[in-house]
Amino acid sequence: MEKDPLPSVFFHFRFKFLAVTSIAFLLFVILTSASDFSRFADSVQFKLLGPFFIISGLMFLVFRKFPIKCPYCARVLPAKKDWVCPNCKKKQGKDRYLSEKCVHCREIPATSSCDLCQKTFRL
Ligand SMILES: [Zn+2]
Ligand SMILES: [Zn+2]
Repeated sequence: MEKDPLPSVFFHFRFKFLAVTSIAFLLFVILTSASDFSRFADSVQFKLLGPFFIISGLMFLVFRKFPIKCPYCARVLPAKKDWVCPNCKKKQGKDRYLSEKCVHCREIPATSSCDLCQKTFRL
């Protein structure tokens, strides 16, 4: 089933990992929480909810900004730039994160190319 031979930089994987971790934590809180709300409000799980969401939000912002590394030439590339959409082949017109949707076709870019060696890789 290996149809896509392009190497991946696991850029979108960061967000999937964060989402899966968040859902797993929420499930843990729901499944282990007391049925009585006053007892639930005193529980450790409830007290962890606030800091957990703050940390998740911060991790999301860090993950979005964290640069990617070209799998061909190992050059570090910014995650925010005026990228060309692999779907509609149009430039964004301004610096945008690779995790954002294309301003023209609303597609999240699945691939990107290196500024130095011009080779394409999966995000
Ligand atoms: Zn490169
Ligand atoms: Zn597009």
